[in-house]
Amino acid sequence: MTADPKTLYQEVILDHNRKPRNYGRLDHPSHQAEGLNPLCGDHIHVALELSGDRIVAIAFHGESCAICKASASMMTVAVKGRSRSDAEALMREFVDMATGRLAAGDAAHIGRLAVFSGISELPMRVKCAILPWHTLHAAFDEVATTSTEAEADPMHTPIGDA
Ligand code: ZN
Repeated sequence: MTADPKTLYQEVILDHNRKPRNYGRLDHPSHQAEGLNPLCGDHIHVALELSGDRIVAIAFHGESCAICKASASMMTVAVKGRSRSDAEALMREFVDMATGRLAAGDAAHIGRLAVFSGISELPMRVKCAILPWHTLHAAFDEVATTSTEAEADPMHTPIGDA
């Protein structure tokens, strides 16, 4: 029995919007950044606490559409407890999958995040799904604010290729 991917996608998005995981603020974040997606109006904050190389706490909050909120919620679940390098490897897989450069079946670590694989067929929504990862990346690099439309952002060009 295989669940219809579209139905699964809708259920996951709804579930994470109703009950976003790790939603809120951290008392003592070691890294944080805010992310903007002007095309949609998404504006989120991601904060995390690194202990050595490990993400021991992560939280997000902000105003965003359902896809961005669900993606942020699932991202926090996926990276919590992981090392920074594991989280960054996962980020690259997610971005490649969301932009259609990597099939979900070829993404070794993607797990439940595979529900976003269909997003590559919705170019207007790709940036909504990627923004939380983009913001996590900025937090690691201690960039205070990132935007999906910023020229200087290294992830801008690949995203535009979708
Ligand atoms: Zn959005």
